[in-house]
Amino acid sequence: MFINTHTHARLHDAKIELVNLMPGALEKPDYYSYGIHPWYVDANHWEHQLNELSLAVNEKRCLALGECGLDKVCKIDFQLQLKVFEKQVVLANEMKKPLIIHCVKAFNELMNVLNQLDNEMPVVIHGFNNNENIARVLLDYGCYFSFGKALLGYESNAAKALKSVGRKRFFLETDDADVSIKYIYHKAAGLLGIDETILKQQVAMNFETVFKITVT
Ligand SMILES: [Zn+2]
Repeated sequence: MFINTHTHARLHDAKIELVNLMPGALEKPDYYSYGIHPWYVDANHWEHQLNELSLAVNEKRCLALGECGLDKVCKIDFQLQLKVFEKQVVLANEMKKPLIIHCVKAFNELMNVLNQLDNEMPVVIHGFNNNENIARVLLDYGCYFSFGKALLGYESNAAKALKSVGRKRFFLETDDADVSIKYIYHKAAGLLGIDETILKQQVAMNFETVFKITVT
């Protein structure tokens, strides 16, 4: 069974797809997540965005809050990003939903927010493709990692991290890439030197642990 832990579109090639939606989406898949992406924080309407989110995230098939996070490369004011992200961490803890995190060049700030707010929810860093020092800090905190198309690149950071984070700490995803989750599994199994059947079982177990649904 293939599980796609983070995608922006339904690809229909996995038994479970956790689809990233905007609150108010009309067509809802079996499983989805809602969050305010740092790119789309609206300086004039962020409070409204948070209100909408807090109402929507309670839905049973909404398995996680995200993607949300921090991005130092985008144009949105960083202080505003921080404020909106902090509110989402608080909301995730109130609603008991894991967090799916988008983080670009702001891992120190990410750790600060999670520590200061005493976050107790599982944290999944999606699209991870950073170096081993960052991976180590996140691993020590207890983060999970979701790897996507970066795995397909030759000796990518993602590929190195997949091999070092341990079997209980990772997921696989397509994000917004035009690729089948099956290729990501195939590559991951090769990198880990394990059979794809074993890989699927492991991801399914990790998914049950973090997202609290029975998938098997
Ligand atoms: Zn995404």
